[in-house]
Amino acid sequence: MIVGVLKEAAPETRVSLIAEGAAQLIKKNTTVWIESGAGLNAFCSDDDYRSAGAAIKSAEEIAAKADVILSIHAPSIEIRNGVVLIGMYQARFQTDRIKDWTSKGAVVFSMELLPRTTRAQSMDILSSQANIAGYKAVLTAANAYGRYFPMFMTAAGSVAPAKVLILGAGVAGLQAIATSKRLGAVVEVFDTRPAVKEEVQSLGAKFIEVPGAADASAAGGYAVEQSEEYKRNQQAKIAESVAKADIIITTAQIPGKKAPILITEEMMTAMRRGSVIVDLAASTGGNTPVTKDRETIHYDGLTIIGDSNLPATMPSDASKLYGKNILNFLQLITNKDGQLATNVEDDLVIGARATIQ
Ligand code: NAD
Repeated sequence: MIVGVLKEAAPETRVSLIAEGAAQLIKKNTTVWIESGAGLNAFCSDDDYRSAGAAIKSAEEIAAKADVILSIHAPSIEIRNGVVLIGMYQARFQTDRIKDWTSKGAVVFSMELLPRTTRAQSMDILSSQANIAGYKAVLTAANAYGRYFPMFMTAAGSVAPAKVLILGAGVAGLQAIATSKRLGAVVEVFDTRPAVKEEVQSLGAKFIEVPGAADASAAGGYAVEQSEEYKRNQQAKIAESVAKADIIITTAQIPGKKAPILITEEMMTAMRRGSVIVDLAASTGGNTPVTKDRETIHYDGLTIIGDSNLPATMPSDASKLYGKNILNFLQLITNKDGQLATNVEDDLVIGARATIQ
């Protein structure tokens, strides 16, 4: 079996498999072809891949011969019948593209579709990348914030600790809590899923409770749309915390839907000048009405940073972890001789496969 790894288009800095991962595949009798320059931005040179036993090829050669093609974003290559494509193609939104590829005979695994079950954890690209996003969101906020995070008592006077509010305690939110706490901030957290309360508290943060959330137990751990009454109560509770917050990290997303507006312009006006909002839900519209993805907005003395691509600011570790997730998935769809042997009845295979006819 030949596995091909494509170079991502700028501004993406990550690569879907680093040299270390290529070496692991090669040990299992798999031939690995890397598009020249694919790993450069993640600090993996063509020579690193060659030393791992991989061959450097062009995108055209990979498109023409590889059995499995790895990338992060949708590749712009000629799709041939029978090829297996694995990436993070946003299949729920890019339905025309998926339809085109499958009509040409490709088998498409769009890894954001993978069910969020215990067995899938080692293949869960959303988690490995969201973890980085949560960590980097806090560092980005600290950089843009004109004050300290930790409390200081110095001869020149005292500094109060920063108050951080985190909206959405999924993978990114939990990492943002841990990182904010490490930097010495006081942290409050809100999520519509009461199940996360204990995790939030175990990280040393305060959980803001709003009674009456819709039951999300059938949504595979994801959030669901809330009633109008709940949204009103939630807004009132959030408004109190927003007014006190110096830093807000928002991560609230609902799969396949636009992100909920959790911070209104009125709430932003009540915030202290110099405060910073980092909106990780920017790619699906953002949790504030002014968020723009990959842009920093200055609004009434506040800085609002919309960034859905923070993992790409840590290309080396992000690529390493993404690649490891993909290697684990490849193990699921190959046999011990390194040949494709997909069990079409496996729930993870069914879940990750993007099939729009
Ligand atoms: P996500 O990115 O879809 O959403 C981020 C958070 O925002 C979620 O916690 C969600 O409940 C919250 N949210 C949504 N709407 C909100 C609102 N109106 N107000 C406040 N918060 C709101 O979440 P995620 O990090 O991808 O995690 C989704 C689920 O998957 C979680 O239950 C998580 O525990 C689970 N998970 C499972 C695995 C696994 O077992 N493989 C791995 C990671 C995550």
